[in-house]
Amino acid sequence: MILSNEEVVAHSGALMHTYGRWPVAMVRGEGVWLWDADGNQYLDFAAGIAVTILGHSHPAIAEAIADQARTLLHCSNLFYIPQQVELANWLVNHSAMDQVFFCNSGTEASEAAIKLARRWAYHNGMPERSTVITLEHSFHGRTLGALTATAQPKYQEGFGPLLGGVRHVPVGDVKALEEALDGTVCAVMMEMVQGEGGVMPLPVDYVQEVRALCDRRNVLLVIDEVQTGMGRTGTFFAYEQFGVEPDICTLAKGLANGVPVGAVLAKRPVAEAFVPGSHGSTFGGNPLAMRAALATVEVVEKERLWEKAARRGAYLRGRLANALGNHPHFREIRGMGLMIGVVLDEGASQVAEACLKRGLLVTVAGGNTVRLLPPLIVEEPEIDMAVERLSAAMHDVFGRE
Ligand SMILES: *Cc1c(COP(=O)(O)O)cnc(C)c1O
Repeated sequence: MILSNEEVVAHSGALMHTYGRWPVAMVRGEGVWLWDADGNQYLDFAAGIAVTILGHSHPAIAEAIADQARTLLHCSNLFYIPQQVELANWLVNHSAMDQVFFCNSGTEASEAAIKLARRWAYHNGMPERSTVITLEHSFHGRTLGALTATAQPKYQEGFGPLLGGVRHVPVGDVKALEEALDGTVCAVMMEMVQGEGGVMPLPVDYVQEVRALCDRRNVLLVIDEVQTGMGRTGTFFAYEQFGVEPDICTLAKGLANGVPVGAVLAKRPVAEAFVPGSHGSTFGGNPLAMRAALATVEVVEKERLWEKAARRGAYLRGRLANALGNHPHFREIRGMGLMIGVVLDEGASQVAEACLKRGLLVTVAGGNTVRLLPPLIVEEPEIDMAVERLSAAMHDVFGRE
C-alpha cells in the first residue's frame, strides 16, 4: 500500500513529537532531487542536514552497502574490523590527527571528545582539570553531556539539572576566555562555523589566539567538525582554513553519506589516554557503516569534492547576492564553501515554507538565517534553479516590496 503525504501524517500519532516537521513524507531520492509520497519533486538544498554530500542514491554507495549487507553487517568491537582499520588510516592520512575512535552520531562524537579530554587530564596527573569551555551559540548535540556543552538555552529548557563541568564564553572575546581558563579546565571546544547557531564562521585571528592560549595553558583544543567536515566548507576539515590544528576533532554528518556514523580523531599523546575498557560502543565502526564511509571518502577524494564545494560555494554566493542583494528584508550572506546562511531581518521560517511549496528544501538556523547545505556534487544549473526558487519564495512571503 502506498500512502499519500496526508495519510502518513494522519497515522503518525505513535511518534513522539520531537520535531517540527513539514507535512511531507519523503520516499525517494536521486542526486540533488527528492520525491514525496504524492510525487512532488524537490531540489534538496538541505541534504538531510549536511549529510548526503554525494547526493541521494549514489550508485557507489548503494553498491557498497548492498555488498556489505550480503557479507557482514555487524560483529562488534570484540574483533578487528578490516574496514574500520582502512577508514581510520584514510582519516589519519588526510588530517593532522593520529588515531580515531568510531561511534554512531555527532552527539556521541562530542561525548567521546569530552570524555577523552577529561581522561587526558587524568592520565597526565591533572585530575582536577575536568571543565570544558564552549562558545555561546554553539551546538554540540542533544545527549546530556553534549547538551550541557551546547550553549543555547532553547535546547536545554526543561532538561536540568545539566551535567556541570562546562563553561560558556562569548565568541571572539579572548579576554573572557583567558579569565575562564583557570586550573580546572582541560579543553576548549568549538565549531569553526557555528552551524545550528546561524552559520557564523569564527574570526580567523580569534581561532589562532585561542590555539595559542590553549598551548600556553596546556589545555586541549577540540574542534567540532560534525557539520563543517568532509569538504563542506571548501577544505576537507574547516580548521585547515584557520591555520590551526586541533588536539581532538570530530566528524559525523557527511561521513557515510547517510548511514549513521561518527568519529573522534586525536593526536597520539591525547588518544593514548583511552585504554582498553575506557570507552566503547556496540555499533560504533561496524562493517556496514565503515564500508559506506569508505565508499564516501573514496568519491570525495577522487572528485576532490572540497575544491568543488569552494568553487560552487563562491558561485552560489554570487548568485544569491545578485538575486537578493537589494531585497529590503535581506541582511547578509554568511558561511564558507557550501555551508551558507542567508540572513534576513525576519521571516526565515516563512521563507523556508514558501521554498518547500516551490520545490526547494532549505533549513532554518539561528533565528532568521535560511541555511543552504546542498550536496557537494551540486552543479551550476541546479544552483541557478535554487536561487530562482528562493528569490520567488522571498516574494511570496514579503510581496514585491
Ligand atoms: C548536528 C551536529 C551535532 C550533533 O549531531 P547528531 O548526529 O545529530 O547527534 C554536533 N555538532 C555539530 C556541530 C552539529 O552540527
